[in-house]
Amino acid sequence: MFETSRRNFLFGLGALALFPMERTEPDLILYNGKFWTVDPRLPEAQAVAISRGRFVAVGSNEEVLHLAAGISRKVDLGMKRVLPGFIDAHCHPAVSGRMHLRQVDCDLRSISAIQAALHERATKTPSGQWVLGFKYDDTKTSDGRMLTIKDLEEAVPDHPVFVSHRGGHVDFANSLAFKTASVNQNTPDPSGGSFERDSSGQFTGRVIERASAAFNKVIPSTYTRDDYREGVKLISRMMTKTGITSVGDALGTPEDLQAYQDARDSGDLGMRVYCFIGWLAIDRMISAGVRTGFGDDWVRVGGMKQIADGAISARTARLSQPYIGHPNDYGTFSATEEELYEFGRKAYAAGWQLGTHANGDVAIERVLNVYERINREIPRKDPRFRIEHCTLINDSIIRRMQALNAIPTPFSTYVYYHGEKMPYYGEERLKRMFALRTFLDAGLHPTQASDYPPGEFPPMMALQSEVTRTDMKGHVWGANQRITLEEAIKVGTINGAYASYEKRLKGSIEPDKLADLVVLGRDPFKEDSSTLVNIPIERTMTGGKWVYES
Ligand SMILES: [Zn+2]
Repeated sequence: MFETSRRNFLFGLGALALFPMERTEPDLILYNGKFWTVDPRLPEAQAVAISRGRFVAVGSNEEVLHLAAGISRKVDLGMKRVLPGFIDAHCHPAVSGRMHLRQVDCDLRSISAIQAALHERATKTPSGQWVLGFKYDDTKTSDGRMLTIKDLEEAVPDHPVFVSHRGGHVDFANSLAFKTASVNQNTPDPSGGSFERDSSGQFTGRVIERASAAFNKVIPSTYTRDDYREGVKLISRMMTKTGITSVGDALGTPEDLQAYQDARDSGDLGMRVYCFIGWLAIDRMISAGVRTGFGDDWVRVGGMKQIADGAISARTARLSQPYIGHPNDYGTFSATEEELYEFGRKAYAAGWQLGTHANGDVAIERVLNVYERINREIPRKDPRFRIEHCTLINDSIIRRMQALNAIPTPFSTYVYYHGEKMPYYGEERLKRMFALRTFLDAGLHPTQASDYPPGEFPPMMALQSEVTRTDMKGHVWGANQRITLEEAIKVGTINGAYASYEKRLKGSIEPDKLADLVVLGRDPFKEDSSTLVNIPIERTMTGGKWVYES
């Protein structure tokens, strides 16, 4: 037990002046908790008072319970550890929600299991219609090889099939899919992508980067507006269950933005969304006069998103040194510097924050060239340029990021969950990947980011991965980049709020901030760091309401 001095007892005086009646009578008091607030002025507390979805007081049991009035509900937390709600700054909720609604989840452990799942879906799908799969991961199957066009033919001969890799950026198609997309042996590879061919020139089925556009053009979108809302509802349930109360949708569309609003209005949105808009849709947004920051505490327009290179889990990130065991493979760029500049400048001039996906060191340098140029041409006080993923760094990258105060959003769960991909990068390179220690020491504001579906999203897994740098099999990757639990919690809370210009609203438990929090079944500060992932989530609260209760 600890004493909280009167001086440290914080009260929302600003708001009190505005709403004297409501603010002095909390509708909810949580007490007997072990609050880890992420507020340096009062790091630990026992109780909070909440009114109209915001914290109005944080302090000791005695101080906060004293504020109870007739309308106040009181909840005894039984000395459970409470953290601010987690912010997953880069993930793909709307689209993954829709995938969960309709597509075949190919997160299976053998190619034959994937074939069986696709086959089963095909038997329920009218002939000629698409069978779609997602979350396929070649390193998680026992076969030790990639899915091929032949595997897909065998499983599904009479339907076009298109399966996306868990890492994004790579897809797998059968012959009927190629035919439906009007791609044949004479079709040239598009810029920024390719239809992989074997030594005899035959398609392998692997479709890389922008070559997927040929397929996406002909795959009919069968989702209704209700499906869009249902997808958001589903993923919101999945994510809040793990303690997430805010997400950054890293590649949204105007339709996704509508879906989030529809879910908010129907009471199905349990987490707040900062929705990035992809470069292909940015003109529609700009011409509507919309820019970053528009919206409310639940659904807000984020930055504009572009993509500079490939993926870490699919091993297409553009690196300065080749992949281990593949001496000629340096990965792929997916946009030229000029393209990134043109779109970036246009959006930035229209008031948009910029977020650009860059994994490999060469791609990050390209993005920094673009950001530095735009920053010179259009000076802005607090641009918060984001480098999405920012996986493989070097000293010069860090210096240039410091000069711009650029924000990295490194993968939080990859070391733990995707350990089997790390040998492609190697021990040495891992010392400069997902470089949280380096980012924090440089004074940058790295965030927690799952990139779901490519990465797993539970924040407890992120904490374990970041603190231990150890994969599921016990192998340590880049121990020099370990951070402390306290730092990892900040990365997952207040830094996420900073990255979306919402630090005054959320990211810590303090008066006047949104009442977003998570109640844990066990205390991570008393847990062995190798079992953080197993800590049960008891309850999640967003805006003063329980959105998940175990
Ligand atoms: Zn992403």
